Amino acid sequence: MEKVRVLNTMESVLANEQNLGSVICGDMISMTKKLKNVSASFDVSRTIVRYQGTDGNIYYGIIEGEQVLQLASGFAEIAQGIFNYDGVQVLLDDVKILIPVEPTKVINFGWTFAGHANETGGTANLKEPFLFLKPQSALIADKETIYLPPISLTNRVELEGEVALVIGKSGKNIKEEDALDYVLGYTVFNDVTARDLTKSDPQFTRGKGFDTFGPIGPWIVTGIDPTHLKIVTTLNGKVVQDGNTAQMSLRIPYLISWISQVMTLEPGDVLALGSPSGSCSMKSGDVVTVEVEHIGKLTNYVK
Ligand code: MG
Repeated sequence: MEKVRVLNTMESVLANEQNLGSVICGDMISMTKKLKNVSASFDVSRTIVRYQGTDGNIYYGIIEGEQVLQLASGFAEIAQGIFNYDGVQVLLDDVKILIPVEPTKVINFGWTFAGHANETGGTANLKEPFLFLKPQSALIADKETIYLPPISLTNRVELEGEVALVIGKSGKNIKEEDALDYVLGYTVFNDVTARDLTKSDPQFTRGKGFDTFGPIGPWIVTGIDPTHLKIVTTLNGKVVQDGNTAQMSLRIPYLISWISQVMTLEPGDVLALGSPSGSCSMKSGDVVTVEVEHIGKLTNYVK
C-alpha cells in the first residue's frame, strides 16, 4: 500500500488531478474518479459501510467489489460528501460489519402499505402517517442475533422487512420538494415486533423497543431511486414478504416533510418506511433475511 498516494481531502484530489497519470494503483485512480463525482445531492451511487477493522478500530469505507476502501472520514464528514480515503484497502470478508449509523432517533412509519395495514387490523395511511420511535439500543448489525424476550413477556415476535433512509443533514420544517436533499442514502431494516404487545399496550414502546428488535444494514447506498425498490423477506429460505416501495400509500418526501414539522432531523437519523404484507412470527433457530433491490441483504439469526 506504500505506493498508493494518500489523498486526504476531496480538495486535494482535485488539486492533484494533473498528477493522476503517475498514480500506479488502478484502484486508486478508480477511487479518485469517483471522489471527483461527489455532489451534495448524492446522486452518485456509493455503498458506504461501517465496520470494525482487523486492527480493532471502527471505520467507514466504500465498498468496491470485494474490497473496502477505508476512509479517515467520520460520519459527519461523509454526510457532507467528504470522503477522505486513508490509503488502506481491506477485504469485506475480513471485517466485522457494524450498524451503519448511530442515530439520535429511529422513526418508524407504520401502515404505509395497505397489505400490512390490513393484516394488522388497520387501513393504509393516506394522509396522517402512523408512527413510533425505536430506541437506538434496539439496533443490531447484519449477521447479529435477534434475541427473543422471555415467553412471560411476549409469545409472538414477528418480522417486518422494510427500507430505511438515513438523514444526511439537519433539517426542520423541510419542504416536500426539498426533502430528498436531506437524505444521505438508503439501507435495509427489520422492524421486529412483539405483536401481542403492540395490540395490548397503549403505546408501541415495549412491543417495538426490545433490545435487538432493530436489525439494520448491512450498509448505506446513496444515489438510488427509492420509489421502486423491491423488498423480499425470507424466513429459513422461504419467501414470506414480496413487496415494492411503489406500493406505499404515502410518498417518501411527504413523510420526511411531515415528521420534520414535529422534530428536527439530524444527520444519521433513521426513518424506517414501513412494511409490506407478509409479517409473520419467528422462533428460536430461525434465520431471517430482508433483501432490498439495489441495496443488499440483511440477515439475522433468531435465538
Ligand atoms: Mg414496521
